[in-house]
This record gives sequence, C-alpha cells and structure tokens, in this order.
Amino acid sequence: MIGRDEYAGRMARAADAMAARSIDCLALSAGSDLTYLCGYEAMPLERITLLVIGSYGPPTLLVPELEAPRVDTLDGLFEVRPWADGENMIKVVASALRRACPPAPFIAVSERMWAGVLLGVQDNYRHARFVPAGRIMQPLRIRKSPAELDALRAAAAAVDSVVDTFKSIEWLGRTEAAIAAEIASGLRAAGHERVNFVIVAAGPNGASPHHTPGERVVQPRDAIVVDVGGTVDRYCSDITRVVCVGGADPVVGRAWEDLRGAQEAATGEVQPGVTAASIDRVAREMLGAAGWGENFVHRTGHGIGLDEHEDPYIVDGNDHVLEPGMCFSIEPGIYVPGSFGLRLEDIVAVTDDGVEVLNRVPHDLLVV
Ligand code: ZN
Ligand code: ZN
Repeated sequence: MIGRDEYAGRMARAADAMAARSIDCLALSAGSDLTYLCGYEAMPLERITLLVIGSYGPPTLLVPELEAPRVDTLDGLFEVRPWADGENMIKVVASALRRACPPAPFIAVSERMWAGVLLGVQDNYRHARFVPAGRIMQPLRIRKSPAELDALRAAAAAVDSVVDTFKSIEWLGRTEAAIAAEIASGLRAAGHERVNFVIVAAGPNGASPHHTPGERVVQPRDAIVVDVGGTVDRYCSDITRVVCVGGADPVVGRAWEDLRGAQEAATGEVQPGVTAASIDRVAREMLGAAGWGENFVHRTGHGIGLDEHEDPYIVDGNDHVLEPGMCFSIEPGIYVPGSFGLRLEDIVAVTDDGVEVLNRVPHDLLVV
C-alpha cells in the first residue's frame, strides 16, 4: 500500500514542479491525477470534486457534502471543504481558486475536467489563464517509485495467477461471454478490487483488437485472444495470451512464432536512454519483414500505473527517452480480418540497466 509519506512526497514534488513552471495553482478534478497526489478516489460524478493546490493556504479538497465522510485527509495532509447541493458549483470552484491564487494567475487544470465546469469557471474568473495539468503531473507519474513498482508487480502476479487457470477452463462449446464472466470472477478471486476489461475473442473475432465478448460459441481449432486487466490496490494489471482449442492451425502457429519473436525482441531493446518510438520500431520492422506489416494495426504499447493507459506510449513518433522506473506494455498483434487474431502482451519496467518483465506466464500458445 502507498502510505502517507509517499503522498506527502508527491505533493512536495508537485509544488516544486509548479514553482519551476511559474504555475500558481493546480486544480485536479476526479481522476487518477487527484488520487496520485492525495490518495482519495473521487467518483466521476456531475457534482465536482476538486483538489486545489495554490500559492496561498494549504492544499484543499472541495468535495460534495455527501462524499465528505469518505475522505481520509492522511493526518492533515490537505484540508477538506465540503460544498452543499444548492450552492452554485461553478461559483464554489471559482472562489476556491481565487482564494488560492495571486491576481492574474496561471492555473493548471485536469485535462479530464468536465468542459462545462471549466467553461463556467473561465466565465467567472476572467483574469486567470488555464493550462493543462499534464505539464505538472506527467513528469511526476511517468517514473514509478519503488512502492509503485511493488504495486505493479503484485498486480502482475495476480493476473498471472488467473492466466495459469486457463488450462482448466472449459472452452469448447461455450460462448465468449460465458468464458469472460468466469475469467472476471477469477480476477476478483485473485485480489483485483476492480475488473477493468475482459476480452475473449474467438476465431475470426480475434481480428478485432478490442472485440466485445459475445454469443459466438468456441469451435475446435479456434485461436482465442484473451486480454484481461484489473486493479489491485489501485494499480493496474494487463496481460494478453492466446488459447488454441485442440491444437493450433499451422498458419496460426507460424504467425505466433513471428509475433513472439517481435515481442521478445522489442522487450530486449528496453533500457534507459532509448526512445519509446524505437521500441515500437523493433516490433514493427520484425513483423513487417515476416510479411505481417499490414496486419499490425496499433501501437506496440502503453504506460500503466493508476490508469490502464497512461504515458509513456510506445508508438511511432514518441521520442520520449526511457528512464528507470517507467512501466509499460509490449503488445504487438497480428490481425487477419475474417480469419484470426493474435496478440502477446506483458508489462515491463525499465531498470537502471535494462528491463524487468513483470508478467511471468510463458509465451507459448496455450493449447487446451
Ligand atoms: Zn491488454
Ligand atoms: Zn495493454
């Protein structure tokens, strides 16, 4: 678990980053940036929750009055200001920002703040200038602390234990939806407090990377893409393996070896000092050389932490240089419309001199 000292350190680093960028106030609405700094998980309601860290006064969490009993201030790390139904929400926010700021401030706001709230606040606070909070938060969150790495290792171990049960699941003759429901229960039983997604895509459905499990009944020789993830102590898991029922079709078997080679080569390139784009390039060039270039239709990976998808994105054009503590997926895929799909995904962490693969499940096709 992440403790009070870690949250206090994060708040202090946010304040330093604000000072370095001449930001007078940081205003974070419901979302993982807010959770990252103060540990509170706000519901994404129409009523606003807002963490305000400004030049004047202590950090303050505006919360809907009915949510206030859920807030733990971590021994006074921040103050709580409940606001009541019947108060004008926009005016509550504007006056909280004014109290925290010098005249004509620069205010960094959550990218995911409701547009209706931000537009209203801008109307009520004409001398403030607003910039995206990602300028402060992204550099803090992109490198994981030792406690966060432990949390991500625990999430990976939990999801690995679910994949280990795949060999005892009854696949043949059941619908994707029924199998997905069983796997979702397995994720909860393995310690996930939340199931974020369960993709079970059998046969030709595997060619749609984010297929919604449906009524297709699993047939002999189906290749089934199974991509699952959830949250353990707030940190996310995410893994993809492919199950083959009764043995793999020869074309699928050959494609899998190409995919496995690309995934493992891209993983082997991970180290401090290389760019995110260069990892993507390794996987893309290998699949291209094997004749699958047209069939690899997405980026190679995404960062992971409090969010399933966050920086750094392992994608062409992202020249962000990898540093120790960054965590992301490596998940190339091969998608042949009307025929089959394959994806192989692990979560990795950049270490001081290379890479740590957090998922430990072997890379073989899981023949059941
Ligand atoms: Zn995934
Ligand atoms: Zn993923």
